[in-house]
Amino acid sequence: MTDIELQALVQQISQRDFHQPFLHRAYFNARLRSTGGRYQLQNHNIDINPKMLTDFDEATLIGVIKHELCHYHLHLAGRGYQHRDAEFKQLLAAVGGSRYAPAPKKRTVQAVRYHYVCANCGQAYPRKRRMDTRRYRCSRCGGPIKLA
Ligand SMILES: [Zn+2]
Ligand SMILES: [Zn+2]
Repeated sequence: MTDIELQALVQQISQRDFHQPFLHRAYFNARLRSTGGRYQLQNHNIDINPKMLTDFDEATLIGVIKHELCHYHLHLAGRGYQHRDAEFKQLLAAVGGSRYAPAPKKRTVQAVRYHYVCANCGQAYPRKRRMDTRRYRCSRCGGPIKLA
């Protein structure tokens, strides 16, 4: 999905679920690390973490967009736009937005998938990929490697 397609999606959701146009810009921002999206109070633009595309499904992306649009429309209308405000909570529930923008998955989660050990001395061999244990020996004691 490109920035242009994201812009079109945000405009469509705004019109359909909020019955008001989205008149500012939405774009992907890879610098967002700990959050799925961000509404900018200063210029009214919406940033979306590109990880929302790679780590989550489309329903999650739409939930995040709705969440940011709640900030957007309430802020522009001069109403309670912060998480703790009753108006924000009501609007969020009405449009079915996500309560919290999901944090992107940590990179370390997918780093090591296979845990091999030496059958003789117990030396650990964490690997990202599967390996043919018949072709390798423990570098410490020369023992056979097996999947832990
Ligand atoms: Zn928020
Ligand atoms: Zn060993």
